[in-house]
Amino acid sequence: MPQEKPKKIWLSPTGLGNSKRCPRCFWLRYHKKIYQPEGIVSRLANRFDGVIKRYFDLYRPAGELPPMIEGQVEGKLQHPFQETYFYSYNEKYGFLGKLDECLITDKGKYTPIDHKTSSSDPNVKPMIPAYQTQLDSYAFLLDKNNRPSSGIGHLIYFYPSEGKNLHQGFPMEITVKTLKTNPRSAFTELLKAIKILEGKMPKSSKDCPFCNWHSDMKKLAK
Ligand code: SF4
Repeated sequence: MPQEKPKKIWLSPTGLGNSKRCPRCFWLRYHKKIYQPEGIVSRLANRFDGVIKRYFDLYRPAGELPPMIEGQVEGKLQHPFQETYFYSYNEKYGFLGKLDECLITDKGKYTPIDHKTSSSDPNVKPMIPAYQTQLDSYAFLLDKNNRPSSGIGHLIYFYPSEGKNLHQGFPMEITVKTLKTNPRSAFTELLKAIKILEGKMPKSSKDCPFCNWHSDMKKLAK
């Protein structure tokens, strides 16, 4: 009987972030289908994402920018919007990413956008490094799909602010951050992630509470 071809592994920007955080957990996910327990997770951010996307869609057909970002970004919303992009590295591995939004400049360059719901003021806290990887990855995927990236990407933060009239609607602070993108760096990260998957199971990350908890419990059981 002919041997069945192994299914292609499609890595994502989130996967690249995970591979940096703990190569072992990343390896276990793909080789053993063992996932870190999710715990109790709020889906509020998903709801926000849906509402924001539909709001942007209202402005797309007219070629207008939504007032909340007007004057802070360059270009028009991509119309029609393409959410998912693929890059096939080889027979075994590929890379895919889903953009939240995309702008096209007058010069025909593409700027990826990612929406971020924030629980604290994004102006006073350091940016999560994985966000840079995310925008680099989107720029890489755009380039590989014949949509030349502009060299920048935007993070649009949504942060609930205080107010006396909350009963009339929750005020949201909207902050646009612009980052330089480096598609080459995303490709380097992709190669590193593939190298992890091609190797033996890596060691646990020292400061992860999950593996530490597991080894402490194992000691107790002896
Ligand atoms: S240390 Fe263990 S539980 Fe934590 S991320 Fe790594 S493999 Fe997963």
